[in-house]
Amino acid sequence: MRERNERMPEAVAPSARIGEAVARLRAGGLVAFPTETVYGLGADARNVLAVSQIFAVKDRPIEHPLIVHLADASQLGEWARDVPRIARRLARTFWPGPLTMILPRARGVPDAVTGGLDTVALRVPDHPLALALLRAFGGGIAAPSANRYGRVSPTTAAHVREELGNAVDLVLDGGPCAVGIESTIVDLTSPRACILRPGAVTKRDLMGVLGSAFSPIPGRSQRAPGCAASHYAPSARVVAVSPGEVAQVIDGWLGRGRRVGLLSTRRPASLPSSVVWLPLAEEDSAQARQLYACLRQADHLHLDVLVAVLPPAIGIGQALRDRLRRAAGRGGVSGEGRLSVAAESDDGQ
Ligand code: AMP
Ligand code: MG
Repeated sequence: MRERNERMPEAVAPSARIGEAVARLRAGGLVAFPTETVYGLGADARNVLAVSQIFAVKDRPIEHPLIVHLADASQLGEWARDVPRIARRLARTFWPGPLTMILPRARGVPDAVTGGLDTVALRVPDHPLALALLRAFGGGIAAPSANRYGRVSPTTAAHVREELGNAVDLVLDGGPCAVGIESTIVDLTSPRACILRPGAVTKRDLMGVLGSAFSPIPGRSQRAPGCAASHYAPSARVVAVSPGEVAQVIDGWLGRGRRVGLLSTRRPASLPSSVVWLPLAEEDSAQARQLYACLRQADHLHLDVLVAVLPPAIGIGQALRDRLRRAAGRGGVSGEGRLSVAAESDDGQ
């Protein structure tokens, strides 16, 4: 991932913009910034008033905790107490990168950030601009995705402006996100680690580091919003289907007079000409990069219904299925048990 970012020098804003962003954060303002996953809406994580602005701008329920972004793993102890050895091992392997760890929070971490929980979510993002900002700022930056609550996450600076307009003081433009979907969240607060949200760091990746200390089951009933059954949703109704269901489902919606789109890697030969085809790349990480832009495009095209073909539950495909099912309002990894990591193996990876 870092390689990809390094190939995008145009993505790095002039250092003057970093100075301006730091000044705004120190003054309690909001700054939208790129990460390798999606664009974040950042505030000084120690400033309760600034953090409350994130919730106001996003229309996000205040009990939904935020991820605190750090410049590097040496800051873990400032935010988490009793950092377990497995957390350090995961940090060494996956940071900077798309892995968020849930750990017991250190004293002084504001309730505004943790939603009142005794745990805190921490991540070091892998994007040169995010890292430059974090290093220059020096502290933790609390940042959820820079979109209105429940809507599609932004993967370009233009998406952020489209979503939030003037509600955000400054948008740092770091080009399109290299991963394109939110980080994997792993809960390390119980004896066996478990995934709360699938992402680009897969179950298999985690098992490679944690071995038997990893429990491939969906998270316990602990609040993990972003894991709400409906999320990442465009205005168009998303209908997530298996490849064999496409023709029948499309016919059904066309019969009801709806404007229909199809999100799939291949255009079926028999696709009715009135259906708008939104092509997805064959490769799963490329699909992740494209997914949210495609969901936005469905709205720009004023589609009523977007029929989306679920990819196989292999590797990052697990996360893509999770996001598509939530976009369809049907729950994801811990919703209704439909996509339990236990039930759908990714052994084929
Ligand atoms: P986002 O809304 O995309 O910023 O994702 C942040 C997500 O991190 C939340 O929605 C939760 O799912 C998760 N999260 C943050 N803090 C915690 C925590 N202390 N315990 C469990 N999940 C958390
Ligand atoms: Mg979000």
